[in-house]
Amino acid sequence: DVVVVGSANADLVVQVDRHPAPGETVLGSELAVHPGGKGANQAVAAARLGARVALLGRVGADGHGRLLRESLERDGVDLGHLHDTAAASGIAMIAVGPRGDNSIIVAPGANALLTEGDVLDGEPLLRAAPVVSLQLEIPLPAVLAAARLARRAVLNLSPAVPLPDELLALCDPLVVNEHEAALLLGTSGAPDRQAAELLARGPRSVVITLGADGAVVAGDGAVQAVPSPHVAAVDTTGAGDAFTGALAWRLAAGEPLAQAAAFAARVGAAAVRRAGAQDSYPTMAEVEEL
Ligand code: ADP
Repeated sequence: DVVVVGSANADLVVQVDRHPAPGETVLGSELAVHPGGKGANQAVAAARLGARVALLGRVGADGHGRLLRESLERDGVDLGHLHDTAAASGIAMIAVGPRGDNSIIVAPGANALLTEGDVLDGEPLLRAAPVVSLQLEIPLPAVLAAARLARRAVLNLSPAVPLPDELLALCDPLVVNEHEAALLLGTSGAPDRQAAELLARGPRSVVITLGADGAVVAGDGAVQAVPSPHVAAVDTTGAGDAFTGALAWRLAAGEPLAQAAAFAARVGAAAVRRAGAQDSYPTMAEVEEL
């Protein structure tokens, strides 16, 4: 149903009483290691709901790489195009403060070595999928190559970088949160106005996610608000990835954008009720309960 072209990282998480200033050392909690990375998160989110998903990317031939493979396999993600690389697996060093405030350093490692050639090698896989789901923790030439081959490209603009016009024009939809929308437009403003302005920049459709307020979608001349169910939020890590993975799956099934986004908002809401990224992602039964 969905091919994800993107990153896989081991999240190395330590709780701290406060974040260290430059030159300072603080003691933290015991280290926790979780599978993460925006590409792997999207893949797991969709697969856990029941989608058939493949992940095209690179991990290191190391312990973190094995952890990442194992977690993806548990959810049934096809790893035939996940290549072992003579570099360290990508990692995210995450310090979590007492109010849940994160500071994160990503060392891309193997993810940075994903090339346009790797994507072109996957051409039959990409052309066969109704939707290819993308994010920006891998080099831009690989993202652009994937978008060119895709029947439909969903792109989460995260982490936010300026996009070449050709890539922007291939996004259907471009998925951003409020922060990324403001960065791209250079101004903040009402979400429906922002969505219309982003659409005018060239993508075929736009989704802005709004945390607890759900999302707004723009395309086909209409801007629509999509609500999110009210939940007690415990940890919003990876909510945007869960949203995008779920959205890609429903679009692959042929649903209209607003309907797919409404489903994705329920998946995002379900994912903030538990700690972690992939660990928090719901099954279909859990989404239906909401
Ligand atoms: P990101 O993680 O990229 O910043 P958002 O915070 O906008 O993205 O979250 C993505 C989606 O997850 C939202 O559209 C919404 O459906 C859901 N979500 C996030 N936070 C909450 C919350 N506090 N309550 C309910 N749903 C939420």
